[in-house]
Amino acid sequence: MGQGSKMKMIYMDHAATTPVHRCVFEAMAPYLKDKFGNPSSLYSIGREIKKDIEQARAEVAAFLGAEPEEIIFLSGGTEADNTAIKGVLFALRDKKDHFITCSIEHHAVLETAIFLENLGFKVTVLPVDSNGLVDPGDVEKAITDRTALVSIMHANNEIGTVQPVEEIGRIAQEKGVYFHTDAVQTFGHLPINVDDLNIDMLAVSAHKLYGPKGVGALYVRKGTKMTQFMHGGGQERHRRASTENVAGIIGLAKAVELAKVGLDEEITRLTSLRDRMIDGIIGTIEKVHVNGDREKRLPNNVNICFEAVEGESLLLALDGNGVEASSGSACSSGASEPSHVLTAIGLAPEIAFGSLRLTLGKGTTKEEVDYILEVLPKVISNLRAMSPVWSG
Ligand code: PLP
Repeated sequence: MGQGSKMKMIYMDHAATTPVHRCVFEAMAPYLKDKFGNPSSLYSIGREIKKDIEQARAEVAAFLGAEPEEIIFLSGGTEADNTAIKGVLFALRDKKDHFITCSIEHHAVLETAIFLENLGFKVTVLPVDSNGLVDPGDVEKAITDRTALVSIMHANNEIGTVQPVEEIGRIAQEKGVYFHTDAVQTFGHLPINVDDLNIDMLAVSAHKLYGPKGVGALYVRKGTKMTQFMHGGGQERHRRASTENVAGIIGLAKAVELAKVGLDEEITRLTSLRDRMIDGIIGTIEKVHVNGDREKRLPNNVNICFEAVEGESLLLALDGNGVEASSGSACSSGASEPSHVLTAIGLAPEIAFGSLRLTLGKGTTKEEVDYILEVLPKVISNLRAMSPVWSG
């Protein structure tokens, strides 16, 4: 699925965002036109829209094995992470002031941790192994009687590693500590049951599952102590003020409805395409490193470093060949920094700079994968030929 530019582009960046599904767009459209009313209004259209929101809430809840009242709609994954972490830490701060997370979390969690630390909270950032896995034993050791919350992501957005959340959740539960997971990359892509996985709070973002941007949800287990993050009106049972993003909420629920259909088959299909891509790359290009766990991995994630290749040049060369992809490196304060995830799994910065993330989606075909397998060796060989550090 390309983005409408002249050359037909192959979109390989579904972890960044996904195209809005046609059925999602169609489900949302009436709420941007005739059904524009405010769900808090007492006249009939307001009441009708309120009912539609509650139906959407039930849809999202059912997908997680949760109760509708346990779902809060908000603006996306970042707000969900912030709400969960700050909400619990502020609520419990008189007795508990310790927060545990890990080194490869999304910035929505890591920056929140830094903010809390600056306010005087204690923060433990656990390391990960060379595949990006958190050791549940480390979580157990880090928990003290001051620990309020453990937050470990369900799957990593860069390297695709799926964490042992069930075990981490069980440990947290046994120790009487809340467990939050950032499921932005897994919600709608892997089956999730919050009871089976021992999860108290879970962050969701619609635009990662063919829904619209700027809307998401936070699952909060009944009874969880949490202060309100956004103050104002009484929406979302006084847990998140502001007039609801009605069209967005309807879009999220429609995306969930679509995600449920054939989920297992889609997981199998993507896993096979993913492995075809990884095996094809390591079979044809020398001096490459596959990042992330080969088994405990998102079905759609390929992340590989190419020695003596600069990530940004690689992305531009791929773009020129009709492929939209991403690298692991992020720009901060004008200077390009190696990805915090890739350095946390032990890669040297010069290797981490040569990373390529290809994330597959519903529209990805075997032909697209094979096209990339055909052009990538040529692109890498051209870049290496120009590299002063390539001795190949
Ligand atoms: N958490 C993870 C793991 C993500 O991948 C993202 C988005 O890239 C976010 C949080 C932030 O979500 P949003 O863009 O909805 O704020």
